[in-house]
Amino acid sequence: MGKIKVLPDAVANQIAAGEVVERPASVVKELLENSLDAGSTDIRVEIEAGGRRLIRIVDNGCGMMRDDALLAFERHATSKLQTVHDLDQIGTLGFRGEALPSIASVSRLTLETGSREESTGTRVTINGGKMIQCEEAGLAAGTIITVRDLFYNVPARKKFLRSEQTELAHIASLVTHYSLAHPDKSFELHHGPSELLRVTPVATAQERVFQVFGSRTLEDLVEFGPESKTLSTSDGEQKVFELSGFFSKPHVQKLNRNSIYLFVNGRLIRDKLLLHALTSAYHNLIPPACYPFALIFLDCDFGEVDVNVHPSKTEVRFRHSSFVHDFVRDSVRGKLMESKPVSSLPLPAVTPTQPAAGLPFSEFTQRIENAAPDLYEPIIPVAGPGLGSDAPILRLEMPPAPPQRFDFTDSQSQPPVRMRIPDTHGPLPPGVAALSEYDSLGSLGDLRPIGQLHNSFIIAAGRDGLWIVDQHVAHERILFEQVLRQFARREAQQQRLLMPMVMELTVGQQIEYARIADELAGAGFETEPFGNRTIAIKAAPAGLGSGDIEKAILEILDIAETELRKASVEDLRRNIAASVSCRAAIKINTPLDQQKMEYLLNELAKCEYPMACPHGRPIALRYSTREILRGFHRI
Ligand code: ADP
Ligand code: MG
Repeated sequence: MGKIKVLPDAVANQIAAGEVVERPASVVKELLENSLDAGSTDIRVEIEAGGRRLIRIVDNGCGMMRDDALLAFERHATSKLQTVHDLDQIGTLGFRGEALPSIASVSRLTLETGSREESTGTRVTINGGKMIQCEEAGLAAGTIITVRDLFYNVPARKKFLRSEQTELAHIASLVTHYSLAHPDKSFELHHGPSELLRVTPVATAQERVFQVFGSRTLEDLVEFGPESKTLSTSDGEQKVFELSGFFSKPHVQKLNRNSIYLFVNGRLIRDKLLLHALTSAYHNLIPPACYPFALIFLDCDFGEVDVNVHPSKTEVRFRHSSFVHDFVRDSVRGKLMESKPVSSLPLPAVTPTQPAAGLPFSEFTQRIENAAPDLYEPIIPVAGPGLGSDAPILRLEMPPAPPQRFDFTDSQSQPPVRMRIPDTHGPLPPGVAALSEYDSLGSLGDLRPIGQLHNSFIIAAGRDGLWIVDQHVAHERILFEQVLRQFARREAQQQRLLMPMVMELTVGQQIEYARIADELAGAGFETEPFGNRTIAIKAAPAGLGSGDIEKAILEILDIAETELRKASVEDLRRNIAASVSCRAAIKINTPLDQQKMEYLLNELAKCEYPMACPHGRPIALRYSTREILRGFHRI
């Protein structure tokens, strides 16, 4: 007799469960997706003990008829797919028909469901994949699925579960983000007696973001889209891609990718391509090892994206991947460029905005952000060029305070004057701030420099508040963009050296030098090989002090060797420009006269991206009039 046997269904289901049901949050994800596919508008999730003891989802969707309620637990039983051709055009979140049998095989599950087509509802009980009971029950239209004692019969899996708090954070993160993708629906999340999330239907995604995260987070975000782009395929078809969402201003810098949420046709996915597109949009705006907060919704023809890549349906494959990549990168970067968001100074005494849930906002978001450490694989931080390491130390020189005297007699005799505050916040719901023209760094050119703090920061008065501009990074950004423009036109401004400078290289540096010599020339370095492992520098970019020329070349070679092996010419140029401009920019601890300060602010206003230096540090902070008034209890 042969050795091969077809596995019984119960075993096959447990094997599938290994892939589909990794942890309590995967159960919530599958059940939530089923509820959304069933057209529900009101979804309630109840959790006990981080989902190990109980997960219950109550929806008001189409429900199931008795026969379907039984069939749903068969392997590969689905109402969402009929022929193999349907696989190319999947518009529902589910399609594999694996979730319910998989979950039922590793828990004690009860399904209660009622459909409008039948007068009575159905209750099905299954323990560890074994049907225990199927009975009639008086139920309204909709479905309740209760999953108890997850993994009770798979001790190996149970051991891998993390703490109750971690599992809960995964679940909270998931429900929160599905609620963001469906602002027109109600969502509730309860953990035991505490309510973590409750949101009612609203008209816009912006209002939903406000409901979930509060106004502080909304102020840190830029909303964009919908933006669309059409792809003409080789067979003459036109495919429209639409993009919308929110992404953070560059001062928001997260140390992992857990605050990046990508939705493709309403499905929450992890995708390296889109992630790369997003981080490229922030290239030179935030430090290399940092990530933004982002909620990105991409909608396209179902045929353009293959969702049948992984059993948990969290990965996709795009038919035209480079088109999608560039569309996302360019749209996000374009919007960052257009809105030029300014970072605001943190207020010392902020009352944390309460989310709709009872948990303090900060704790809630923190848990969500800290959750899912395995959302993407571990991140290996890339050292940022020059960031922090060689940043000059600020000398704080406090001038002795002169004895001060004020004469109050005059002002006391005058009636109190009411300040006129420009109305920067439009007719949004209270607390919801829109990006106004005053919030944009585009208004930098209208600033009036008042003076310098510690010979390092320019203090300036603007139409809406007080600004502090870091002179070094501001100048760095100005030079960086100048050098890049000169690169593009091949007309770098050079200074000839009186005597060529001779520089010795290591073998590695020599190899890199041979590879990037043309690009160095493009930036204004005139160099030539000079004997073995030695080069002669005859000219350098204008503005570089003689002591910095060698350092800049070494830094460029070093970065080229360690980080930019496979980088595009574009990235290489950006890094060369960043090294040159960092060395040529005015240092901190340098006194500036009024004219120079005005020049800096004007030039900065003309920059394409005046919000961050090429290494990602913020350039300007604004203390808005509103915040100042709030601080002085005048509003
Ligand atoms: P899939 O979602 O891939 O079809 P599932 O195992 O998740 O597979 O679900 C099997 C079927 O059960 C679904 O196709 C759907 O018809 C039905 N179903 C599951 N959950 C619900 C629900 N909440 N409301 C209505 N029908 C549901
Ligand atoms: Mg499903």
